Amino acid sequence: MLWRRFRNKYHLIGTYCEKCKTGFYPPREVCPECRRGGKIVEKQFSNYGEIVTYTVVSAPPAGFEKGAPYALAIVKMDDNGPNVVGQVVDCDDEKLGMGLRVETTFRKIYEDGKEGIVQYGLKFMPITHENL
Ligand SMILES: [Zn+2]
Repeated sequence: MLWRRFRNKYHLIGTYCEKCKTGFYPPREVCPECRRGGKIVEKQFSNYGEIVTYTVVSAPPAGFEKGAPYALAIVKMDDNGPNVVGQVVDCDDEKLGMGLRVETTFRKIYEDGKEGIVQYGLKFMPITHENL
């Protein structure tokens, strides 16, 4: 199962306010709670989390039609991590729900037909082997 480790070379790196212990992803340079009083540091968060809430998007914006309908979830990352918004992939409809354990995965999110530019973004998939 070595390939699983290599796939995790992408880390969830954001920022963290040491004063109020709040994580941010995407990273923020100023804590909205503490403002100038906050102490922002770079931090690598857990790649695991739990779905807090989700919605199924059936009418996506231009360029994203291919994957529709898809599920967009807010995931609370483990170990005091941030709430992260991302698409849920590789998940059966019956399994999808609040409290589902998921892990991050980095997938192609957009392809520019003319230029051939491919962008990768953070997505979530159900955890299959959490104890590995
Ligand atoms: Zn703060």
